[in-house]
Amino acid sequence: MPVGSDIPGGTITAPMVMVGSSNPAFAPLIDVKGKIAVQVVVPQAHMVFDRATVSPRSQDLMKRGAVAVLTVLRHPGNEYAKDLGGCGGPCFNIGGRDGFFLERVLDRAASGGAVPVRAQLTMKSETKSNLRAENAVATIPGRSAEVIVLDAHADAWFDGAGDNGDGLAVLVALARHFAKPENKPDRTLVLIASAGHHTAGLNGPRGFVAANPDLVKRAVLVVNIEHVAQRNFGPGRSVAADGYREFVADSGEAPITAGVTNESPYLNELFQQGVARYGTNFVSEPSPMLSGETGGFTSMEVALITIMQAPPLYHTTGETLDVISTPGLERMARFLAYFVKQAGKAQVTAINPPGSAPRRSAEPEDR
Ligand SMILES: [Zn+2]
Repeated sequence: MPVGSDIPGGTITAPMVMVGSSNPAFAPLIDVKGKIAVQVVVPQAHMVFDRATVSPRSQDLMKRGAVAVLTVLRHPGNEYAKDLGGCGGPCFNIGGRDGFFLERVLDRAASGGAVPVRAQLTMKSETKSNLRAENAVATIPGRSAEVIVLDAHADAWFDGAGDNGDGLAVLVALARHFAKPENKPDRTLVLIASAGHHTAGLNGPRGFVAANPDLVKRAVLVVNIEHVAQRNFGPGRSVAADGYREFVADSGEAPITAGVTNESPYLNELFQQGVARYGTNFVSEPSPMLSGETGGFTSMEVALITIMQAPPLYHTTGETLDVISTPGLERMARFLAYFVKQAGKAQVTAINPPGSAPRRSAEPEDR
């Protein structure tokens, strides 16, 4: 994929042109040559779902001669977003509030005949190389040598309270719980705080699998805990003086997908019980989804579980502690303590039914 948001010389000054959502049906009708193209994206949830649409459209704008692309993300608030880059030139995301302002400026200028509006972009960047990252791995011996792997990645963009501070907090809570003698698990637990999730070329789970063949051989199940307690957001009723509609956070958490690669009926049933017993906000449809950090475990021929939300503030500066649901964290920790206990006692054939080859889904990796 083309990258390179560098601005040679550090500054670009050029007229701006609005290209809307830059749909292939009309984007070629707009002359972007020598201009800064401004496109607008309304993320439906997690920006990972918009990459497949937005990145090729940005690349196309650059190929047709744009000197830069500004992508207005109609997000709540005014967050910096790390995503949707890689257009082969300078591509920048603009937060919801600033984007609203920019769209209004361009509209007002157009209706008043004051076009084109010119913008000056400046940028400084630095590339770091030879970085290293380390997994933290802990083992809680159970009554049996068989292993259940629990993973949460420990690195983040920005504050990362939702991706993946909440998952890591739940992992630590599980470690505390199962380390108590009275909670000794049936199967041995291997807990990983994995590293390098957001850095190309580093992959904590793959490093764990390569470094621990004995644990991997004894594993019956892998559970990846990733984005699990961010609150849900939606447009609120209050409208600012300039017409911007504010967002509000629900008290509860955003929907959580529980992906079970081998579609084990026993494991899926445990997730249903989670909703009834602990009020976890799992989506109702069973899913074989495999995403994010789970991708590094795919060489293991056992059930791989991905517990993951697709919340709107993902990969933005808005992922701060106040958007995490504290009761949601507790619901998830209590549910997983129950889940791990039950899965610790279950027959291997219930967790990995014979003939249920783990499916490889096509979800994009969360990076
Ligand atoms: Zn993540």
